[in-house]
Amino acid sequence: MRETLVLNASFEPLSTVSLRRAVVLVMREKAVVEQSHPGLRVRAAQVELPVPQVIRLRRYVRVPFRQRAPWSRRGVLVRDRHRCAYCGRRATTVDHIVPRSHGGGDTWLNTVAACAADNHRKADRTPGQAGMKLLVKPFEPTPADALLLALGLKEGESLPEWLTLPAAATA
Ligand SMILES: [Zn+2]
Repeated sequence: MRETLVLNASFEPLSTVSLRRAVVLVMREKAVVEQSHPGLRVRAAQVELPVPQVIRLRRYVRVPFRQRAPWSRRGVLVRDRHRCAYCGRRATTVDHIVPRSHGGGDTWLNTVAACAADNHRKADRTPGQAGMKLLVKPFEPTPADALLLALGLKEGESLPEWLTLPAAATA
């Protein structure tokens, strides 16, 4: 899959995203095309776009983490959109899935956002021991994840059905 470079509104390079994601950002008017593949177009019934090589965000966004993100409590809350991993309600605390007292570390994969009530209920136990289920799978955020979070786009958000990408551009 071809990748598109994303620049902040200030022209500072932020990340690369897939061509599909770049097209969504342009169509949502979150970004403008700065440079495109000569001769290649994305065609649809009513829309035609150049295939973007470089896009630039219309508004400056503050991206919470750039390269390999160092673990932080704030970063976990941002990654999980302040949603409790156990009940989905608003989270203000960070839970260690394997508690630190059992050797669990401060890592992206061992921590999730949690509401204070669930964090208190789980206490010094694993989810299994506490009889609690994780609704989400923790992940290590990439720069592209961070960018999507900063733009408020959902990870699974996809292109409209009617939009087709040229075969040459998706190879
Ligand atoms: Zn909760």
